[in-house]
Amino acid sequence: MYWDKTHETMPRPALEALQLERLRETLRAAQNSPFYKERLQQAGVTPEGLGSPGDARAIPFTTKEDLRTQGLGLLSRPLEDMVRLHASSGTTGQATVIYYTREDIATWAELLARSMYMTGMRASDVFQNMMGYGLFTGGLGFHYGAERLGALTIPAGAGNSRRQVQLMQQFSTTALHIIPSYALYLLVTFESMGVDPQDLPLRLAFIGAEPHTEDVRCRIEEAYGLKAFNSYGLSELNGPGVAFECPEQNGMHVWEDHFLLEVINPRTLEPAAPGEVGEVVLTNLSRRGMPVLRYRTRDLAALLPETCPCGRTHRRLSRIQGRTDDMLILKGVNIFPMQIERVLMAMPEVGANYLVELTRENFNDLMTVKVEVQQEFFQEDLKYLKSLQKKITNALKSELLVTPLVELVEPQTLPRSEGKALRIADHREK
Ligand code: ADP
Ligand code: ZN
Repeated sequence: MYWDKTHETMPRPALEALQLERLRETLRAAQNSPFYKERLQQAGVTPEGLGSPGDARAIPFTTKEDLRTQGLGLLSRPLEDMVRLHASSGTTGQATVIYYTREDIATWAELLARSMYMTGMRASDVFQNMMGYGLFTGGLGFHYGAERLGALTIPAGAGNSRRQVQLMQQFSTTALHIIPSYALYLLVTFESMGVDPQDLPLRLAFIGAEPHTEDVRCRIEEAYGLKAFNSYGLSELNGPGVAFECPEQNGMHVWEDHFLLEVINPRTLEPAAPGEVGEVVLTNLSRRGMPVLRYRTRDLAALLPETCPCGRTHRRLSRIQGRTDDMLILKGVNIFPMQIERVLMAMPEVGANYLVELTRENFNDLMTVKVEVQQEFFQEDLKYLKSLQKKITNALKSELLVTPLVELVEPQTLPRSEGKALRIADHREK
């Protein structure tokens, strides 16, 4: 049931003692990097001065901008000790680059093996990794983790939908790693090939890399006939394997023996109350080549206050609600794209894809939500479609407090992505 029982179920006091020890070690390593040496000195923080993991609050935050501008100044070991680099997807601007030592790669693989084992994956599983290999951490990160666990690993990579289905058939794939929006999109390919995913031996899917709602998980589980687990990570902190859902499927355990977790109010920078949504802040506790301290992830989530019935003592994060920087402001109202998805994906008439377009006319912001309708409903008469349009508009209005224009479109007509979905097109001049 546990991959690493000692660490996964460690009583909190022992876990916190381990965190303190590793935090001190991390600071010692960080002092070798020109960037952190200066930062820590200025803040007057020393490894020995820390009395508890909470004392990490004296360390200044690290931002994405720091990572973009500091480059090699963040390394705490010579470049020749590094064996790999990865870069973030660059969803919100220039990508950041992360360097790993051999030891860091091994630790990362261990965390992913632990995560997948937790969901029930075993060495007898056949694991198809449908994430981009290359600079993106999703591909190689999971690949090494699955091999570490001992599963037969198919390095399928992203895209090439027909081939993905053929691989599943040929090798009797049982576990998938897939971007949730792509999992919905792939159903169209299954249909056109006359293959029912339910007839395949698929039983587990790891879905992550982008925000998604509970309804999207349910749709994936139902269509494929498997259990889908939320997987969270970011390249700045290794990549995937930072937090993962257990069999309870209720929040993601953050591996606190490897990451120091904080959730802060992004305005006041003070800790958020348990259960309150705030910005996730993470500190590497075991990365040696390029430890990152108090990284402001910009990801929004809440810390779940209850302990988990699965027996793991590591605290859980709620589903990621979005990023602080993907909040839309429309007519003075703050809107998160996930609010729109929550409304749409709860409606059975809505298909797999939608797109939010923002335009400006006569100094007035307009939001148009283009929604793919399920084929069976799209065939209905115009009167039906008009009433559906109205139903969606009203549902969005009551969630968002502004009234969007809703356009219903045919299935498979909106632009698709084989990587992270692009849901927002902002055509307003900045
Ligand atoms: P980029 O920030 O350029 O997209 P990464 O490829 O490192 O870089 O992706 C990490 C980001 O992806 C996270 O900070 C988060 O915003 C998003 N993400 C990853 N996993 C999840 C998940 N399970 N749920 C929601 N968002 C996720
Ligand atoms: Zn649990």
